[in-house]
Amino acid sequence: MIPQPMRVGQGVDIHPLVEGRPLILGGVTIPFDRGLDGHSDGDVVAHAACDALLGAAGLDDLGTHFPENDPAFEGASSMDLCRQVAELVAASGWAAMNMTVTILCDEPRLGDHVGQMSANLAGVFALEPASARVTAKAAEGLGFPGRGEGILAIAVCLAVAADL
Ligand SMILES: [Zn+2]
Repeated sequence: MIPQPMRVGQGVDIHPLVEGRPLILGGVTIPFDRGLDGHSDGDVVAHAACDALLGAAGLDDLGTHFPENDPAFEGASSMDLCRQVAELVAASGWAAMNMTVTILCDEPRLGDHVGQMSANLAGVFALEPASARVTAKAAEGLGFPGRGEGILAIAVCLAVAADL
């Protein structure tokens, strides 16, 4: 078999926006009147990023490693989940090279926060600052993100076999 020194992974995550929850994206708490519902903090940026990295490393997805029904992860900080995923990936002999995450969301505007989200992802996944980029895209009023019913994040990650 031909060696696979590099692999690409993709991750997608969606959580509903509800009242009475803080809005946390990429580890940044963003002032807003609603937040993302979920077993953990509902951080779609972190979850999509984890699934992209796990996929690139050829590992099972986030929900398999950290089941929604496991009380140990009730209210878990998704930045902590990212650190645990980074350890799983390192133990499997792979390392993230770069990662991009696109958030689909009309409200709130996220432009002032994507820099900090990028820095947070670079920190937890041990990436160069320019190698972890989060961007926000408006849904133009269309579909569930446009109606403010939820937020979608899509991540792509390139990983390299660490021992090559
Ligand atoms: Zn999620």
